[in-house]
Amino acid sequence: MTAPSRGSHTTPLAIVRRADTVAPVATPAVHQFQFQPTNESTLDFSAVEVRVSGVEGRGVYAARALPAGAFVAPLTGTLVPSHIAEAPGYARMALQIDDDWWLEELGFADDFINHSCEPNLRFSAAGDALEAARDIRAGEELFFDYATSLYDGGWRVACRCGSAHCRGLITGFEDLAPELRRKLLATCLPYIRRKGESSPEAVAMTGTTASRRSPPPPA
Ligand SMILES: [Zn+2]
Repeated sequence: MTAPSRGSHTTPLAIVRRADTVAPVATPAVHQFQFQPTNESTLDFSAVEVRVSGVEGRGVYAARALPAGAFVAPLTGTLVPSHIAEAPGYARMALQIDDDWWLEELGFADDFINHSCEPNLRFSAAGDALEAARDIRAGEELFFDYATSLYDGGWRVACRCGSAHCRGLITGFEDLAPELRRKLLATCLPYIRRKGESSPEAVAMTGTTASRRSPPPPA
């Protein structure tokens, strides 16, 4: 098993800061994200293609064979605080990336990746990209598990992913069974991994909070 390879990937972080919404709000507490302006011409979507999904709506497919651990696509979006993204009537697609922050759709390929309960993608350790969770064949539709980006419980949508291990519902990470949370933790966005690492449950399981900072070997 070779270490995950980012190859010659040098894409700058693709998160766009929208000054009119971000300025009045505190900067994200954590952050491994660097809020540098996005140069769209440098965003590397060469590994993926958008076309009609086998599951629902538009989907994203591997444009070439992708070895486990390979960079697949950057995460893009306008940085939007939760009080906007979670407000009644908010009608854009957005990806939660921290307790108080979301990435609102910009129309790049990463906006069209569907959920699967048996995904072939996971989040990179830095949380700025999706990478192959296993070897992926050219032409395979790409999926990540939405519970690895959305934390809060109480939200649920029927799942029609069709996988052998379909949970029947798409939920937040908090609503997953403890065993599944442990299994998925290292594939999650960093803000969810931090929550998992600091939970009494995780400490009891590992005896330390320092051993879960690396992505797992591909499944
Ligand atoms: Zn499913």
